[in-house]
Amino acid sequence: MAAKQKSDYAIVIHGGAGNAPTDQEFIEARERVLEQALSTGTAILDKGGTSLDAVEQVIRILEDSPLFNAGRGGVLTAKGHNELDATIMNGETRACGAVGGVTTVKNPISLARRVMTETRHVLLAAEGADAFAQQLNDPAVEIVDPAYFRTKRQAERLKRLKEREKLTPEEQMGTVGCVALDRHGNIAAGTSTGGLVNKKHGRLGDSPIVGAGTYADNSTCGISCTGVGEDFIRNVIAYDIHARMHYRKQNLDTAISQVLKSKEHPIHGGIIGVDRRGNITMQFNSGGMARAAADSTGLRVIEAGK
Ligand code: ASP
Repeated sequence: MAAKQKSDYAIVIHGGAGNAPTDQEFIEARERVLEQALSTGTAILDKGGTSLDAVEQVIRILEDSPLFNAGRGGVLTAKGHNELDATIMNGETRACGAVGGVTTVKNPISLARRVMTETRHVLLAAEGADAFAQQLNDPAVEIVDPAYFRTKRQAERLKRLKEREKLTPEEQMGTVGCVALDRHGNIAAGTSTGGLVNKKHGRLGDSPIVGAGTYADNSTCGISCTGVGEDFIRNVIAYDIHARMHYRKQNLDTAISQVLKSKEHPIHGGIIGVDRRGNITMQFNSGGMARAAADSTGLRVIEAGK
């Protein structure tokens, strides 16, 4: 018997995996941003808007906040500057767009969407991506001075961590992502990040790699990942979850939990997803992962404390 539709629309957001925060003010401030992002995404979906619009608008809010590792507030490279990565994917067509290592684009997720819709390419990186943003002359793709991204919090964090020889994976992570199913049955997924703190200049993680950090296919699910990007690239995690559902007929929950528990191919971080029936999953093997979710049945969850 075919599985029943769980909800007409569904949305899930993550604000990055890592250590569970202990500062109550920071937790509450993040929850307020997640609340605003969730309400924006839910309003778009409730009115019959597209999952692509919901994902882009939600991620823009998180990119504009200095409290998350994406856009303003992104972590710094070992050289002390910001290099930002993002991907968006349309589960109806498998169309996708991504940018890597951009330094002047306020909202990398919107630039990723323009790569998908305005070029014949999937991934633009570094100067070429920044130059494409300039040429677009599009109000949604605002150009800013690189200093805009450099927050005191991240500068102090880099300094603190550089004084130590080795960092635990959890001290380096953070990212934002969103997956949505709309009333038309279309799934979209997006991810945006500053990457890993103290990363090498030019390093790209999983977030701009379709199939590693982000994937969407209407026949199965949409996925956004956060964690040590190298783990997610080696194991093609977002696509692997789709493949487990498609070929092994696993459900979304099982596919994600098996991937996160794998001893053979360990990964550190968290994964969110929505399947075509509107089932939502948020799982992580780190100390915490800020997250939020809502659907058409009235579900509403916001958690930034663990
Ligand atoms: N996955 C991101 C990267 O490796 C970082 C993160 O999610 O924390 O660039």
